[in-house]
Amino acid sequence: MVFKGELLKMDSMERVVSLCKRRGFIFQSSDIYGGLSNSWDYGPYGVELKNNLKRAWWKANVYERDDILGMDAAILMHPKVWEASGHVKNFFDLKSDCKSCKLRFKASDLKDKNKCPECGGQLTEERAFNLMFETNYGAVEDKESVIYLRPETAQGMFVNFLNILDSRHSKLPFGLAQIGKAFRNEITPGNFTFRTREFEQMEIEYFVKPDDAEKAYKEWVETRYQWYLNLGISKENLRLRPHGKDELAHYALACTDIEYKFSFGWSELEGIANRTNFDLKQHAQYSGKDLRYFDDSTKERFYPYVIEPSGGVDRATLAFLVDAYYEEKVRDDIRVVLKINKDLAPVKVAVFPLLRNRPEIVGLAKKIAGGLKKNFICVYDDTGAIGKLYRRQDEVGTLFCVTVDVQSLEDKQVTVRDRDTMLQERIGIDKLKEYLNTKLTI
Ligand code: ATP
Repeated sequence: MVFKGELLKMDSMERVVSLCKRRGFIFQSSDIYGGLSNSWDYGPYGVELKNNLKRAWWKANVYERDDILGMDAAILMHPKVWEASGHVKNFFDLKSDCKSCKLRFKASDLKDKNKCPECGGQLTEERAFNLMFETNYGAVEDKESVIYLRPETAQGMFVNFLNILDSRHSKLPFGLAQIGKAFRNEITPGNFTFRTREFEQMEIEYFVKPDDAEKAYKEWVETRYQWYLNLGISKENLRLRPHGKDELAHYALACTDIEYKFSFGWSELEGIANRTNFDLKQHAQYSGKDLRYFDDSTKERFYPYVIEPSGGVDRATLAFLVDAYYEEKVRDDIRVVLKINKDLAPVKVAVFPLLRNRPEIVGLAKKIAGGLKKNFICVYDDTGAIGKLYRRQDEVGTLFCVTVDVQSLEDKQVTVRDRDTMLQERIGIDKLKEYLNTKLTI
């Protein structure tokens, strides 16, 4: 019986935050020093989940396609990149500071432009606040050495467009994909890992002939929406939101956000935009290099258009966690279970001895776990009674639990329990790998 909703009296996000800390998914950064606000560290299960998510994205967008190449650009780039991209001039929020409590607010979040919403103090005039983190490159700290932590991974792909053409001779349409850290000095970070100042993006720049851009844009919106559904996000919690004309950046022809229904409201996980030929043209102008594409068949040179699906790794991870979180009534108990997709689950199988004071059973269980570890992410645990061990694995979404008991010593079989159905089956130890393989590849 599932009690999602009914049992979730506490905000579902609060429950997930608590689970994340309790079980080692996500911790507050620099916790022992009182924490750095809105900065988070991924623990043992969190890093597995996040890596699985990135792997699933890379597999769908790079390995399973013939038209997309992966890459990994440096975080620190030539400062001119950000002049060309428009970030130096335009990447700012308007903010006001409270003269009394010194808190800083995003102007668009304020109902009353003069009064501090926290203490009622007087607010300063609105001022532009650039969201890029600035630092100095090298030993000298002067105007020349100012450099930025990239606020998006996208520009790393635009500035490598020529390198890719020269080295790979790619023909349109083709795309570049990369996953990496980005930094924005957000005025109002919050909602756990949803909005932070350091985060990871997974972005694609898909170059097409201008006439094909509209069709490619529509296809990408659908492809990216399906990707979340294929990995198990509930349809009722996911929607597409096309941007109105007034929301679009001046160079964008169209943009659609993929939004998830968090407890704090529908919020963006990813944006898919038709960026026209703006970026390549800008970089051509600022670098002096010819970034046009040469079409062999028509002998024409032109700037391709770009379709950009741009998503956040941390936001997607959070959405998958929230969506998979269930509380179920099992007899007189409540079990918390993360019904997360098998490809994303941090651990695939756990092995326990039923009696931890029987060395032969413990020995056999450890041997089985050792064998499985070569093929699956597998953990061995003998630090509690069986009920507790099951509960612990359910909370982190482990797909199968294998229990070794007295009978196993005789009949060479073990009990395999399924996370979602809780049904148990006896499986021969020699058939275990094959059994799990079949279940995990369906
Ligand atoms: P928002 O409107 O929420 O600030 P955005 O439209 O500025 O987001 P983009 O510039 O389109 O975001 O960045 C692409 C993706 O990067 C977003 O869809 C989101 O998943 C992720 N992202 C952007 N800013 C942050 C942030 N501060 N924290 C976590 N992820 C972020």
